[in-house]
Amino acid sequence: MAFFVCSDCIQKRRNQNLIIQAIVYFVDVILPIPLKQTFTYSINKDEAAFLKQGMRVAVPFGKSKIYSAIVYQIHQQQPSGYETKSIDHILDEIPILSPLQLKHWEWMASYYMCSLGELIRAGLPSSLLLESETIVKIVSDQNVETAALSDDEALVYEALLSHSSIHINSIRKILNRQNVVSVIQKLMDKNILEVEETVYERYTPKLKKYVRLTEKYNSEEGLSELLDTLNRAPKQKEVLLKFFMLQSQTQKPIGASDLQKKCNTSASVINALVDKEVFEEYVVQKDRQDFSQGPSTAIKTLNEGQERAFQEIKTSFQEQDVVLLHGVTSSGKTEIYVKLIEEVLQAGRQVLYMVPEIALTTQLIARLKQYFGDQISVYHSKFSLNERTEVWRNVLANKSKAQLVVGARSSLFLPFSNLGLVIVDEEHEPSFKQYNPAPRYHARDTSVVLAHLHKGKVLMGTATPSLESFHNTRTGKYGLVTLKKRYGNVLMPDIELVDIKEKSRKKKMTGRFSDRLLEEMHEVLGNGEQIILFQNRRGYSPIVECTTCGTAPQCPNCDVSLTYHQGKSQLRCHYCGYHIAMMRNCIACKSETLDTKGFGTEQIESELKTLFPKHNIARMDQDTTRGKHAYSKLIDALENEEIDILVGTQMLAKGLDFRNIGLVGVMNADNLLHFPDFRAHERSYQLLSQVSGRAGRTEKRGKVLIQTYNPYHQILKQVSTNDYEEMAKEQLEERYQFKYPPFYRIIKIEFKDRNLNRVQKASQWFAQGLKNSFKEHVLGPEQPPVGRIRNQYIYNVMLKIPASQSLKKTKDYVMRISDRFAAIKEFSSVRVNIDVDSY
Ligand SMILES: [Zn+2]
Ligand SMILES: [Zn+2]
Repeated sequence: MAFFVCSDCIQKRRNQNLIIQAIVYFVDVILPIPLKQTFTYSINKDEAAFLKQGMRVAVPFGKSKIYSAIVYQIHQQQPSGYETKSIDHILDEIPILSPLQLKHWEWMASYYMCSLGELIRAGLPSSLLLESETIVKIVSDQNVETAALSDDEALVYEALLSHSSIHINSIRKILNRQNVVSVIQKLMDKNILEVEETVYERYTPKLKKYVRLTEKYNSEEGLSELLDTLNRAPKQKEVLLKFFMLQSQTQKPIGASDLQKKCNTSASVINALVDKEVFEEYVVQKDRQDFSQGPSTAIKTLNEGQERAFQEIKTSFQEQDVVLLHGVTSSGKTEIYVKLIEEVLQAGRQVLYMVPEIALTTQLIARLKQYFGDQISVYHSKFSLNERTEVWRNVLANKSKAQLVVGARSSLFLPFSNLGLVIVDEEHEPSFKQYNPAPRYHARDTSVVLAHLHKGKVLMGTATPSLESFHNTRTGKYGLVTLKKRYGNVLMPDIELVDIKEKSRKKKMTGRFSDRLLEEMHEVLGNGEQIILFQNRRGYSPIVECTTCGTAPQCPNCDVSLTYHQGKSQLRCHYCGYHIAMMRNCIACKSETLDTKGFGTEQIESELKTLFPKHNIARMDQDTTRGKHAYSKLIDALENEEIDILVGTQMLAKGLDFRNIGLVGVMNADNLLHFPDFRAHERSYQLLSQVSGRAGRTEKRGKVLIQTYNPYHQILKQVSTNDYEEMAKEQLEERYQFKYPPFYRIIKIEFKDRNLNRVQKASQWFAQGLKNSFKEHVLGPEQPPVGRIRNQYIYNVMLKIPASQSLKKTKDYVMRISDRFAAIKEFSSVRVNIDVDSY
């Protein structure tokens, strides 16, 4: 019997076979760009089996670009409407992002209304995101065995030998091949190539040498005998006598080099005295040393108050995921953190310790290293890429040296696998919020979600809680533990308000200094103690004005007047950096009647130099801390007591811990209070309390003088009586009345364009769209206080969201308007930035 098979069937079967053979796989990847969607590429069966979510692949994009992209999902769904390209290469053997991490980033993207690509860009060290625009170079001082390289690697290496640094795209051209990213990645893994970047050098503080008398000569008899023997060495005798003189004038340690300078002699004379065992040299024992050998100090036992707080935190954690530790300045919060960290590490879980400004934490890190040895890693955007990548990989592998990570806000992007505790120190600090570019996230709030995903806890600590966090303790969302006494029962500083209106009227002002301030300064300096003066403005004077015609020079690019900087004899714009030489005549009427209004740190510094010519005066603001290590050097100098008076901006308020500050002076509290922002009062309270907290951190009670035109202002009174609760109660009432956070949420939408008309029209259009639905809860469009920066006009629209309104629906609505806006040709040049919780 013969089979008859119809030809149609054969054709059908063939087609099926073809389809089976051609079963295709696809991978959706996230590109590190602001576009919201994922992109689909085709892969083969083996690749599909190998690839996992969180791995990197190099993919072509557009005409000539290459990106490192993150695998999101693998599937077989052919996208319709376009032909998929193949991936270039797989860059990882294991995922570099964990599923939990991606989940966290997806939450961030949705909450802060940005793209996952923007999170990838912000979260990953750029050495893990090689792309066509990346510039690479050969690591110097390398003995490369080309024989050990693959052909491809050797080719790339040789091509690079003749270039100092080169775009990845150019390497593609040189080698005439597409897939160079994986080769470069391999060369980087072998430490032959590196990504070119601005190099941040490490600064190691110099240890200043001091001299003192040895035990032997520290008595009456010993001394007279010594002076006799020194009759034959007049130079040495002179040095010794000078030493006694200095010792009687100051309680501060006497530096070897200072002594040498004062005696106008050479180092050998002092060395001779050291050899004779008259003097001994020593360095002031400081905390900032590298304890890389391992833990060297047992964790301190907590005092009674600390122990109580510690136990309360643990009890609170049984029911709460987040606890706020409200402890006054210098109450020893760090020791409590340390105890908690110890417990969590012992339980085998990771700890993230977030600080607002890593540059200020050398003291802290040294302390933690004493306790936890090399279980600690530090992560910060100012570290070199190599260091950051290494920390990333250590955390990813859950290595023992990355169990405790200390870092600024970006450290919450690290690939933790088992995070048991997040500490947010100084939780009120604005630097936990990223304003630009997207993701515009708040690290404190984001860390709560992060810890929750890991089933871990969050401890926030501060002397001056943000009103949001404080409010959260009131509503029962967070636990609250308070610590009202300073460590060692040191008293809170004595804060005095000085009415400078009154003082001016009675002619009791010398320049910017009231007689009270000068009085206290003289006394404190007489005791050999140091002084910090706070003025929240840099430069010499914020306004230069002609007294004849009233003209004040303005920045041509921004809507602000130029600040006078005396040192450089320049007028500068603090927004765009524009500067011109200071003029003698008015630009409008040519009269020589220019006058300055207001004052900044530079003016205080110059007045100080006249008032206290014999003392060392230094200034800490953006202008003096620009250099690589300028900041650390200033801190070191203050710590070494080489500075008697330090004048500075709010940089001074950030948790610096110095033993010898007898007086803190606030030159003028008023411009803080009158800042046009709904948080101005809260921020003023925080800043002034924090600055005041720098005073008297050891036995002696510190003194604080606040100069103001409004000594009866309620915030200043609350600062002076250290009454946080009263301040919070009043401010929260106001926030409630005027519909501000924490009772309402705020989404700020910022519009920027070079054309004033266009940006007005665009923001109007957008605001109208919002008003159709949200009515009176839409404010603006309105120009911010500085309405034009770098020739871009700015308008803001604010959307207030009551607690009862769905946040998700509101955001969806905003996105729909935003999408419609993006389709309007006329507005195509207008930049729109959406900022959720913009405060
Ligand atoms: Zn004029
Ligand atoms: Zn400008």
